[in-house]
Amino acid sequence: MTVEKKKEKAFVIDASAIFNGILSHNLHGKKYLPQCVTYEIEGMHRGEALLEEIAVKKDVIVTIPDKTAFTEVNHQANETGDIAELSECDMSVVAVAFELQSKNNLVEIITDDYDIQNLANYMGIPYKGIYWKGITQIHVYSWVCTGCGFKSKKQMNSCFECGSTMKKKVQRKKKRS
Ligand SMILES: [Zn+2]
Repeated sequence: MTVEKKKEKAFVIDASAIFNGILSHNLHGKKYLPQCVTYEIEGMHRGEALLEEIAVKKDVIVTIPDKTAFTEVNHQANETGDIAELSECDMSVVAVAFELQSKNNLVEIITDDYDIQNLANYMGIPYKGIYWKGITQIHVYSWVCTGCGFKSKKQMNSCFECGSTMKKKVQRKKKRS
């Protein structure tokens, strides 16, 4: 009888997870860090020391998502309206995870960033927060005109139709299965 080897996880880590001390946690598996995250860390308190700590860790891989994965994430972020809240680097975090997942890896994003969690949830990519328990519902954002009721999935400050102020609304949807 053979004992099935437990599949190692691939963790994708963002700046909030680093900031909240993920490096001192015992994660079994490779840790992927989008390159842009290292730039974010550089600007953080104790940033240089953190980067040195990362550099000596053999299981941390600094990477760049491929274009196809990034484009897909960008597209999905447009659909949920998360795009208004997400930086390019936030989307890179999700894109690296998406790419790994599509190559049949067991992936988990480690982030305390709510907007990244929301998009990951929507795309069916597992994630875990350090301080947060994570969300059980997907929030889809839309913008609604206070004048004529025109709805937009994209962030708008004033209405196409009548020029009135647009108000952001959060719609709760159950997790996709
Ligand atoms: Zn309007």
